[in-house]
Amino acid sequence: MEACQRMRVDVRLAHSSDLEPVKRLADDNRDSIGFLPRAAFQESIKRGWLLVAKVDGEPVGFVRFRPRATDDVCTLYEICVSHSWRRRGIGTLLLDALKAHAQHHNKRWIRLKCPTDLEANRFYLQYGFRKIGCSEGKARPLVEWAMSLDKPQFICAVSIWPRDLRVIVRLWQESGYPINPFERCLVTPLTADPSSLRILYEMKANGIIKELYFDSGGYHVQRGRISYSELCDRLVRLYKECPWADYFVLPDSPPSNGAERAEMYQRVKDTVEGSLRVFDQLPSQVQDRAFPVVQGVTIDQVHYCLERYESAGFTRVGFGSFGTKGRRSEVNVLDDQSRDLFRFLRLRFTGHIHAFGIGTPPVLWAASKLGADSLDSSAWMKAAGYGNVYLPYMRAYNITYRSLSQVALSPERFKVLKSMTHHECAFCHDLRTLSTSRDARIMHNLFCTVETLTPKLPESSIRQVLRSHSPRYERMIVAVERM
Ligand SMILES: [Zn+2]
Repeated sequence: MEACQRMRVDVRLAHSSDLEPVKRLADDNRDSIGFLPRAAFQESIKRGWLLVAKVDGEPVGFVRFRPRATDDVCTLYEICVSHSWRRRGIGTLLLDALKAHAQHHNKRWIRLKCPTDLEANRFYLQYGFRKIGCSEGKARPLVEWAMSLDKPQFICAVSIWPRDLRVIVRLWQESGYPINPFERCLVTPLTADPSSLRILYEMKANGIIKELYFDSGGYHVQRGRISYSELCDRLVRLYKECPWADYFVLPDSPPSNGAERAEMYQRVKDTVEGSLRVFDQLPSQVQDRAFPVVQGVTIDQVHYCLERYESAGFTRVGFGSFGTKGRRSEVNVLDDQSRDLFRFLRLRFTGHIHAFGIGTPPVLWAASKLGADSLDSSAWMKAAGYGNVYLPYMRAYNITYRSLSQVALSPERFKVLKSMTHHECAFCHDLRTLSTSRDARIMHNLFCTVETLTPKLPESSIRQVLRSHSPRYERMIVAVERM
C-alpha cells in the first residue's frame, strides 16, 4: 500500500482509447484470467462496466464487472494487475473503486467466482470477501466469494440511568446533529431501570429507535453477581414478558481474566448448552431474533461454539471474548489474542457477527476492519464520566485534570485534531465547555464514535490519522491484511 501512496495511481471508468492496452494486459495474463475476446471489453467499456488503474496514463490493471439488473448484486468478472505492478496495492485500489461504484448504484453485494487454484483467492479473503460456496466450473472447480457493501452498524449501548437517557436524547434532538445515534440501541434489561426500559419502548414506538437489542447480562455472571443457571432462567422469563425488542442475546458465561484452562472450557460449554436450552424455551417470535454468543480464549473453543451454533441453524452470532482492562474488567480491548480469535470466526462464519462492548474509536474502527457487521459501545459515556474526550479514530484525551500542567490537550491542539478528523458538533466549539460539562462530553464522544463508523474521510486519510494517533490499531490491521 505504501508504494501506492508514493506513486500516482488513477482509477476510473475505462474509455474507448483504453481498449487496446487493456486487451494487451488481459492477453499477458491469460494464464490466470483466461482468454477474453476484444468484443467483451468493447461491450464493458460501452456500458461503463470496466474500471482501469493507470500510472502516468498507462493502464496497469483493470476490473471488469456487471451490475445485475434484477437484484442488488454486482458481479465481478475479472480483476487483473500487470506482473510488474503487483504487490503495490493496485488490486486494492481497483476493488475500492468498484465498491464505491457499486454502492453509488445502490448495489449491496459484490460477488465473484475464482478458480480454486489461483493465488487471487487469498487476495479476496484478505480484502474482506467471504467464501459462500464452491461450484464446478467449465474447466476447473470454482470458489464463490461475496462481500456485503453495507456499512458496519453502530449499536448505541444505553444501560444507563433514565435521567441520562432522557437528557442525551433531548440534547441530540436540539443539537441538529444529522445522524441519529440511537437508530440501533442495546440495553441489558436484566439490570436496566424499569423507567429506562419504558423510555426505550417509547423511542421504538415513535421511530427514534429502529432496532433494539436486549443483551444477556453475562457480564454479571463474570463478576459473580448472579449464577449462570439463574441468568438462564431469568432470561427465559424476561424475553417472554418483553418480546418487543428486535434482537435477544442468549445467555453467556464469559471467562474472566486469569481463569484456569479447565474453568475457561467449562464456561464456553456452559455458554453453548445454556444458549441452546434457553432458545428451546422461547416463543417462536423471539426465537427468530435470538442469537448466541461465541466465547473462548482459544481457537478450539471458538470453533466448538461455532460448530454447535451452525448446526443449530444460527445465522447471527455475537463475539464477546475480547481482552479486558479497567478496574472491573469493564472495558473491552482488541489485543492480539482476541484479534486472532475474531479473525478466525470471520473466516469461518458467513453470517452476521456482532462485536460486544467495544471501547474507544480506534478499537471500533479496527473491529469493523476485522469484519464485524455490527458493534456496540457504551465507552463514549464512561469516558465522558472520567473526563476524557474522543475524536474519530483517535484515543481518548483527558481534559479535566485540575492542575494546568497535566492538561493533555490545549485548545489549539484540539482545533487541529478536529480539523484533521473533519469533526464538528454543537458541543465542542470550545474546549472549556467540554471540560466543564459532562453532558457535552457525552454527546461529543457519542458523535465521534458514530463518525468512526460513518467516515467523512477517505480511507487513506483515516489510515494517516491512525498512524499518527493510534498506531497500534493501524499496525494491527496492516498485519492482518498481509496475513
Ligand atoms: Zn464534537
